[in-house]
Amino acid sequence: MSIRIGILGYGNLGRGVECAIKQNPDMELAAVFTRRDPAGVSILTKEAAVCSAAEAMEWKDRIDVMILCGGSATDLPVQTPEYAGAFNVVDSFDTHARIPEHFANVDAAAKAGNKVGIISVGWDPGMFSLNRMYANAILPQGNDYTFWGKGVSQGHSDAIRRIPGVKDAKQYTIPVEAALESVRNGENPCLSTREKHTRECFVVLEPGADAASVENAIITMPNYFADYDTTVHFISEEELRAKHSGIPHGGFVLRSGKTGWEEEHNHLIEYSLKLDSNPEFTSCVIVAYARAAYRLASQGVTGCKTVFDIPPAYLSVKSGEELRGSML
Ligand code: NDP
Repeated sequence: MSIRIGILGYGNLGRGVECAIKQNPDMELAAVFTRRDPAGVSILTKEAAVCSAAEAMEWKDRIDVMILCGGSATDLPVQTPEYAGAFNVVDSFDTHARIPEHFANVDAAAKAGNKVGIISVGWDPGMFSLNRMYANAILPQGNDYTFWGKGVSQGHSDAIRRIPGVKDAKQYTIPVEAALESVRNGENPCLSTREKHTRECFVVLEPGADAASVENAIITMPNYFADYDTTVHFISEEELRAKHSGIPHGGFVLRSGKTGWEEEHNHLIEYSLKLDSNPEFTSCVIVAYARAAYRLASQGVTGCKTVFDIPPAYLSVKSGEELRGSML
């Protein structure tokens, strides 16, 4: 029998999860739940239902894993504990500082409902966290480096859009190539914020807005741009739509370590992602962890988990025997 998946929230991630389910033969999409009028939300899977989020609890026995695709800022802190009491759930909560608190809330709800909840699944947090953890366990003596990009930062794009005179904007975070090379060369550099990333902004102005003052407001914005070398390009609405409508992202997680009695040997572990679509890739990771949630639940495991707690084989559609046969 297929793993029956529910999707709660149909934005970028919701659509990405729907596409990812199509590529996994052991899964099927049962229903999409939305807080909007379901009649106004059209999905791609003909066999699946589109329902109001208010009806979700009626599907308790028809869904094996509910994938929560709401936003991290205000949706998931409420939705994940709420649904973890009734469903096995997976979310992509990415407010790093609040993960311990979110874990505690989901753990209590999932244990009370005898369900499993896997939180903060994706690439960062998610695959990047896992790779940093593996690298630190293997090379205890060393340095960690994380670079993001080239990719769109939704938060920085939003911050520019809030400046008076700005009609629309897209911001790319770009790793500094020289810094990456220095890490790869084993130089163990001590890098400031400015030395690791640059920021490039594409901005559409409102008619009559003053470009120089908008540019100044961007490059001096504390927390977002002031600590970076930032370039601002003013472009037309048509150009923004034509050239900057995608949601690419990616990055690099590196650890340079030393081994040997005198620590005379150098090693470099590098994990990198180059993503055409951040939400579609994030959704692929989530769907693999939904399989793990299903398997854990089938074994009677309850409570909250993160990517650190999941055995790698639980992610794979292959059996243990098949995996052992393909280790080389
Ligand atoms: P979206 O803004 O596209 O969707 C969030 C929610 O908005 C939807 O679930 C949807 O819920 C609601 N919504 C309201 N109106 C609309 C509308 N007109 N069109 C689409 N959705 C609408 O966010 P994303 O899917 O891009 O991202 C969700 C979260 O995923 C982010 O907040 C981020 O924190 C996290 N994330 C995590 C990553 C990781 O690596 N861990 C990577 C990328 C993202 P409803 O259907 O109920 O209205």
